[in-house]
Amino acid sequence: MIRPLSQDNIVALATAPGIGAISIIRISGKKLIPLYKTITKSKLAPKPRYSSNKTVYDINGIPIDNTLITYFKAPKSFTGEDVIEISSHGGEYIPKKILSMLYEQNIRQAEPGEFSYRAFINGKIDLLQAEAISGIISSQTTKNATIQLKNLNGHLSDSIQVLKKNLLTLLTRIEHELDFSEEEIDFTKISEINSNLNFLYNEIKKLLSSARFGNIVKGGIRVVLCGKPNAGKSTLFNTISGSTKAIVTDVPGTTRDILESWIEIDGIPVCLVDTAGINITNNYVESIGINKANYEIENADILLILDEKSPKDFYKQYFSTKDENRIIFVNTKSDLGLNSVEGNNILNISAKNNIGIKDLLTELSTVLKNHINYNYSKDPVIVSVRQEKLLLKSLSILKNAKNIVANNFDIIILSSLLRELSDSIEELLGKITNEDIFENLFSSFCVGK
Ligand code: GDP
Repeated sequence: MIRPLSQDNIVALATAPGIGAISIIRISGKKLIPLYKTITKSKLAPKPRYSSNKTVYDINGIPIDNTLITYFKAPKSFTGEDVIEISSHGGEYIPKKILSMLYEQNIRQAEPGEFSYRAFINGKIDLLQAEAISGIISSQTTKNATIQLKNLNGHLSDSIQVLKKNLLTLLTRIEHELDFSEEEIDFTKISEINSNLNFLYNEIKKLLSSARFGNIVKGGIRVVLCGKPNAGKSTLFNTISGSTKAIVTDVPGTTRDILESWIEIDGIPVCLVDTAGINITNNYVESIGINKANYEIENADILLILDEKSPKDFYKQYFSTKDENRIIFVNTKSDLGLNSVEGNNILNISAKNNIGIKDLLTELSTVLKNHINYNYSKDPVIVSVRQEKLLLKSLSILKNAKNIVANNFDIIILSSLLRELSDSIEELLGKITNEDIFENLFSSFCVGK
C-alpha cells in the first residue's frame, strides 16, 4: 500500500537480491548531502551526477565496502528529490549490511513502487510514463520493451499533450463565445469549431486503433497447427520450438491434449499450439482431444494446415469458412514425395530433416504482419485497459459534441461536454486523482522501483 507522499527518506535495493556481481542501493529524500558525508566520512559535498569511488562505513565507523557512489541533486533525479545511488559488491552480506546501516540512520525501507510514485507526484513522469515503467519491467519480448520505452520517453504522453492543448484552445474560445448570444455565432465560427472537434476525434480514433496492437505485443498471438493424425504436426511443433515437448510416433492420435510453446517472431510473442489430429473417432479420449483442437482452431489468430498429400483437400473436407488470409497451407514430409500438389500458396517442408522451415517462418512473419496491420514505428501505442477505456470515453463525448454542433447547436451543452472531455484527458495523464488506479499501479511495482 502506497502511503500519502511522506517527508521520510527512503531506501531500497534496486537490483535483484541474491548472488551477483554488483548491487545497487537507492536512497531518495530531502537534503541527502549530510547523509552522504556521514556514510562516506567525506568532508566535501559530492559533485552532483558524478560517481566517486568511496568506502561506505557503518555507524561505528567500520568500513562495510568499497563502493561507487553517485549523488543526484533535486530536482534533477529520478524522483525529483535528492537521490544517492550506491553500487556495492553483490551477494547477500554487503547489501544487507549497507541497508541496516541506512535504517540506523533513520532512513526507512521504501514501499513497492514508492520511488516511481514520488517521481509521479513531483511531476517527473505522468501516469502514462509510470505505466510504461511497469510495462518495461514486465516485458518479455523486444517489441513490447521498445514500445514501453518509447512511452516512457514521452511518445504517448506527447500526443496526449497535443490533444490537451488543442482542446484547451477550443474550450477557451467557446467559453468566450458564451458571453454572446447564440444568434451571434456565425457559420464560420461553427465550422471552425467543427473542424477542431474533427481533429480531436480523428486523433483519438488513431490512438485507439493501436489498442489491438498493444494487446498483441503484450499477450501474443496464437498460431495453431492443425491436420489429420500423423500429418507431422508434433514434429513441426518440436522443430520450430526447439523442444521435445510433443511426443512423436507413427501411431495416429498420440497428441490428445493441447501443447503450447512460446517463440518470438519479429519481436512479437507467438504461442505455437499443437493439437490432436482431426478425424472421425470412436475413441473417447481422442474425441475430447479433437474437441479441444476445434476450440483452438476457432480461436486461432493464424492457422497452419498440415497434410502430407494435400493440405487444401484436407481444408476443404473439414472447414466451411475461415479467413484464408490467416491460413498457411503446408505440405509435410516433402522428403517422401507424397505431395499431390506443388506451389499454389502451399509450402513444402520436411520437419524431420529441417527442410523448408526457414521459408515457413518467413511466411509466418508475413502473415503475422498482415494480421497485425499497424505501423508501430511512427505512431504511439496504447498499452493498458485504463488508457483504452478513457480514450473510448473521450471518443464518445466527442461524438456527442459533434452531434450538438451538427444538429441543435447549444453552446452551453457543448462547453460542458468539452469540460468532461478535458477531465478524461487529464485522467489519462494522471492529473485527476483516482486513488485506486495509483494504488493498483504503483503497488504492483517491485521495491526499489
Ligand atoms: P502428428 O500426429 O501430426 O503430430 O504427427 P507426428 O509429428 O507425430 O509424426 C507422425 C509420423 O510422421 C512420425 O513417425 C514422424 O517421425 C513422421 N514424420 C514427421 N515429419 C516427417 C518428415 O518430415 N519426414 C518423414 N519422413 N517423416 C516425418
